[in-house]
Amino acid sequence: MDILVVGSVALDSIQTPLGKKEDILGGSAVYFSYSASFFTKVKFVGTVGQDFPAGYLNILKKRPICLKGLQQVKGKTFRWKGRYEDDLNCAETLSTQLNVFSEFNPVLPAEYKKAKCVFMGNIDPQIQLNVLKQVDSPEVTALDTMNFWIESKKKELLKVLKKTNIFIINDGEARQLSGETNLLKAAFGILKMGPRVVVIKKGEHGSLLIDKFGAFAVPAYPLKSVYDPTGAGDTFAGGFLGHLARSKKITKNTLRQAVVYGGIMASFNVESFSLNRLRRLTKQDINNRYREFKKITNF
Ligand code: AMP
Repeated sequence: MDILVVGSVALDSIQTPLGKKEDILGGSAVYFSYSASFFTKVKFVGTVGQDFPAGYLNILKKRPICLKGLQQVKGKTFRWKGRYEDDLNCAETLSTQLNVFSEFNPVLPAEYKKAKCVFMGNIDPQIQLNVLKQVDSPEVTALDTMNFWIESKKKELLKVLKKTNIFIINDGEARQLSGETNLLKAAFGILKMGPRVVVIKKGEHGSLLIDKFGAFAVPAYPLKSVYDPTGAGDTFAGGFLGHLARSKKITKNTLRQAVVYGGIMASFNVESFSLNRLRRLTKQDINNRYREFKKITNF
């Protein structure tokens, strides 16, 4: 099963305790699709401005990612500036410039409309809805978002959530959206808003998968140094949905394996800035770390 993804394509400026970078390749759709491309083919929907470096496009072109749905238009590319201090789980947004995304009204290429698996990456929920409406009969619909959209477009977000099977969100945002401080209560509150499955990412503390039957909890793969947490959530979602798409069925087991693959992909991503670690990654590396993870969590 291929995955159709819509989300941001960004020039990020990032500061972490281990370094500072300007205008590096980022964005939810970019991290997601690069990660998912290790598992299945991806159909990409997004927009960039005229200032978007051709070299960045070439990075995506080297993977099984179809870029027919990526528009290059007049104007400036989306930009995000963020900072992480000692708590790497917590990104502080210094600025968000929507630029070409403020006018983005995607029209899907004909073959994209047949997609069965759709990931609505972090971007304006109205854009997520516009894309979803154009897909004929999606079977798996997964969604991510962030505080920026919960604050500014909650009504639209709740509409998308109603049409979503799987909601992937981080702990702080789950609390913000549900109004509950306890994470299990937050997840059960969100299940009432539409999705059948909620996945809560807790950064270095791992993740929780919750459905009406209960919870499955996994730790994060332990790492000695984290260079840049940016994109961890999106690479998690890429591994998670990538595994479900290649398994072609959603069962208790494939969902649990998917959470582990998500965590493994995120653990690689944070080992360097932008896509630098993922660009050196092989399927063998993924399988080795998956096996190692099994060993260190078995008792
Ligand atoms: P995460 O996986 O949550 O670390 O996502 C990081 C990516 O989200 C960065 O590459 C940013 O460019 C992108 N981003 C930050 N703010 C927004 C926003 N408001 N809408 C869409 N994408 C964003």
